[in-house]
Amino acid sequence: MHQTNKSNTLFKRAQHVIPGGVNSPVRAFKAVGGNPLFIKSAKGAIMVDEDDNEYIELINSWGPMILGHGNEEIQEAVREAIAKSLSFGAPTYAEIDMAELICKMVPSIQKVRMVNSGTEATMSAIRLARGFTGRDKVMKFEGCYHGHGDSFLIAAGSGAITLGEPNSPGVTRGTAQDTLAVPYNDLNAVHEAVSLHKGQIAAIIIEPVAGNMGCVLPEQGYLQGLRAICDKEDIVLIFDEVMTGFRLSKSGAQGIYGVQPDLTTLGKIIGGGMPVGAYGGKKEIMDFVAPDGPVYQAGTLSGNPIAMAAGLAMLKQLDRMDDLYSRLDATTVYLEEGIQRHLDKRGLPYTMNRVGSMMNLFFTDRQVTNFEEAKACNLELFGLFFRAMLERGVYLPPSQFESYFISLGINEEFAQKVIEAACDALDAIHS
Ligand SMILES: *Cc1c(COP(=O)(O)O)cnc(C)c1O
Repeated sequence: MHQTNKSNTLFKRAQHVIPGGVNSPVRAFKAVGGNPLFIKSAKGAIMVDEDDNEYIELINSWGPMILGHGNEEIQEAVREAIAKSLSFGAPTYAEIDMAELICKMVPSIQKVRMVNSGTEATMSAIRLARGFTGRDKVMKFEGCYHGHGDSFLIAAGSGAITLGEPNSPGVTRGTAQDTLAVPYNDLNAVHEAVSLHKGQIAAIIIEPVAGNMGCVLPEQGYLQGLRAICDKEDIVLIFDEVMTGFRLSKSGAQGIYGVQPDLTTLGKIIGGGMPVGAYGGKKEIMDFVAPDGPVYQAGTLSGNPIAMAAGLAMLKQLDRMDDLYSRLDATTVYLEEGIQRHLDKRGLPYTMNRVGSMMNLFFTDRQVTNFEEAKACNLELFGLFFRAMLERGVYLPPSQFESYFISLGINEEFAQKVIEAACDALDAIHS
């Protein structure tokens, strides 16, 4: 049976000295019940906890480990870089290689600035958009997550076109008033908000495929519609591809949907497992960033040599593997169809959303196209399913509102095991 004594003991210790015992809230398992597992090591698709339980994992550090854990080429690059000292705070060769490769892989990016997290990338991108346009307001979409910057911790006010309200204590009303939050996949709501705040909106920021309300896809024509509105109103269109960048294609979601944003934010995969983010885009906008331009943004450890070594080794592999995304796609379709077969057999209501190697199982008989619909799913059933899968050696994201990420470490044998675990888990929770 699944025994987690060591993790439980460590969690008690952690809670004395770390808020909630974790360094990022979703790790605490609050949404699914039970205690978090403390992880010891991982290789390929297998993660090992402190009690020596092994899990096939479908989180991949929330995306970065797309090639599976312990990638030799990345680890070797990091070892080589470490030998030359860990940080200089002065320019290095690797930063140019990194920037050139990003610009090559993501054609809408002509210039790029490295930062240390996705949060930093999105915060910097909206400051830049505000500085560039001379406008104050930004528009975001309910259920999209752009890191923990004040301007993004905003819920919709009452009525879709009113100003936002703080989503967390500590975010001031003043900040909230500069963020408009409208429903995802609803172009009319965008039109209304834009005409109500005409000439005041600096940027529209969106996850082109949402991964932070579970996996939710943009409807046909939606991203194109946003592009058209931004062109007409001189609004900076920002695709937050911290999650989808280098995951859905070499050029992220913008590559598969064929819509070019003005600015793109990147994170997660770009660091190969190290803390890295980036924002980049049109030259004329990026030239507004200091020291060329007036918009200030800086970082002591930005472009850190170890982080660049890991990121470069990651991106180089993604760039040269021609069949990578079709392989990830095929594995994810196999999982999707296998799990669906067992759901169908039991007549359980569900919605499965998938694009490329991102997917989600929602327990609902309705489609899930926005945050309202995602929140209406049976979260209790998800919690039961999560725990039943964990006991059967499959580690899903511990929240209904997080996408599964499939890595190259999931071979056919592991995929088959995941499907079998889902079959057993569904029996367990259905009875
Ligand atoms: C993870 C994520 C962020 C935040 O990145 P951090 O590195 O956690 O700060 C921002 N935007 C999106 C779309 C993300 O998925």
